[in-house]
Amino acid sequence: MLFLAIVLTDMPPIYLDHQATTPVDPRVLEDMRPYFSEQFSNAHANTYRGGLEARRATEKARRKLATTIGAHPKDIIFTSGATESNNIAILGIAEVASTSRRRIVTQPTEHKSVLGPIKALLDRGFEVVTVRVKRDGLVDLEELCQSVDETTLLVSMMLVNNETGVIQPVQKIAEICKRVGAFFHSDCAQALGKVKVNVNALNFDSASFSAHKAYGPKGIGALYIRRLRQAPISPITYGGGQEGGLRPGTLPVPLCVGFGKAAQLIQDEESEITEHLLMLEQRLWEGVKALVPSASRNGHDTFRAPGCFSMQFPGYQADALIDAWQGLEVAKGSACEATKLRSSHVLRSMGVSRTQADSSIRIGIGRFTSVQDIDETIAIIERSIGKIP
Ligand code: PMP
Repeated sequence: MLFLAIVLTDMPPIYLDHQATTPVDPRVLEDMRPYFSEQFSNAHANTYRGGLEARRATEKARRKLATTIGAHPKDIIFTSGATESNNIAILGIAEVASTSRRRIVTQPTEHKSVLGPIKALLDRGFEVVTVRVKRDGLVDLEELCQSVDETTLLVSMMLVNNETGVIQPVQKIAEICKRVGAFFHSDCAQALGKVKVNVNALNFDSASFSAHKAYGPKGIGALYIRRLRQAPISPITYGGGQEGGLRPGTLPVPLCVGFGKAAQLIQDEESEITEHLLMLEQRLWEGVKALVPSASRNGHDTFRAPGCFSMQFPGYQADALIDAWQGLEVAKGSACEATKLRSSHVLRSMGVSRTQADSSIRIGIGRFTSVQDIDETIAIIERSIGKIP
């Protein structure tokens, strides 16, 4: 019995917070490894072989990412992550805005790295319209249609939400933007690796990506900008002119290589992974419903990324559930807001009450999550029933 207890406590936790970050895929790490010390050269040093090889490696990575998202490699710049990509796109467009286009349109379930720069632009005199989302988390397209006109500079709407997994109707949003010549930016940080992202099919003018949400390393992301060289975007930082002058600074070669490999794996294994995530999600949800019939999910049930959802447990406090579910790594919402005591802005803006929001847990199943992990998760939840205050 004692032995069993020790084995149980020594078991690695079950990680179900893949929206916060993902483990680096071992195949990604393997490709990155040589670029830390053996092939350490600066990719911008072009007078010797090491530098040229480093450059070749970053450009190969860029091509791999471009293939995965259906872009031209010349239209992609590497950044430090989706936060920086969103800031460059939003603030960079505002830098060159004409006096006749001063309106920025967004929606309230966006990540803070979109809402933050937009708030900064409001303070600088831009007009900001926040279109409401419906109870299912989908943006109200009628209201959007009425809000986007010839005075609209930018519309920023995410593809996949980081709490509910809700997929916004970005193709329809793009159509509305095109009619009046508004620039359409989409935060795709949570989309890459969960749903198919083709920047042309989805008609984005720009889109943000983050490697660490897609089994790549932390500290690197990308910004896609359609016809980058002619795009109406000004840099927001200045330096050596790297990345088309839009994101100056020395490229982190190992991280670029890792991001490229992560993107390639998504391209190669997408359908298999989607199937795996859907199977595990269904198993978990059925298990949870059998134990807690009053449990429900926040957000649209069909327009949702596989393996990514928010569960509501009426009558329970999310903090108490997290405490009771020892051995399970889950969160209430975005890791970027974990220090704040406020209820989830995503759920609240969907019309979910404070009490309901505070009884919600975000679930993020990943590529390496196993059937055993899901069964153990259900067992942990079962053991906690009746013991939660
Ligand atoms: N957008 C969304 C939707 C996210 O979930 C995150 C990460 N929490 C970001 C942007 C920021 O990404 P990064 O960590 O790469 O800066």
